[in-house]
Amino acid sequence: MITKVEHIGIAVSDLDRAEKLFEQLLGVKPYKRETVKSEKVITSFFKTGETKIELLSAADDDSVIKKFIEKKGEGVHHIAFATDDIEADMERLAKQGFQLLQQRPKPGADNKLVAFIHPKSAGGVLVELCQDKD
Ligand code: ZN
Repeated sequence: MITKVEHIGIAVSDLDRAEKLFEQLLGVKPYKRETVKSEKVITSFFKTGETKIELLSAADDDSVIKKFIEKKGEGVHHIAFATDDIEADMERLAKQGFQLLQQRPKPGADNKLVAFIHPKSAGGVLVELCQDKD
């Protein structure tokens, strides 16, 4: 079951600069930076009450974030929903016709299992499902 908006992912081209900007905007410092090697992204997380902001920057030239920024510019990249059972939600959504980008959940940033839904099948929004690893 989907329980809340866990975080909003924002693609940025300069992580240091974006961290300063969001630190000013939110009034808190990022609580962690983490590289996700499989995605070739460097992430930086801010807590905003119940939810989080995840800044995403390219770790190298063939990163999906670099391609995203080249196509669309910096900005909102995805919305992540927390689920208490990612496999059950993946199965439910696949049955309903949503196009999942993974067959199985994969390790994501911030100690999560994640799966993505193609924006074409989700109203133009790249959707991430995530569940805490326990
Ligand atoms: Zn995310």
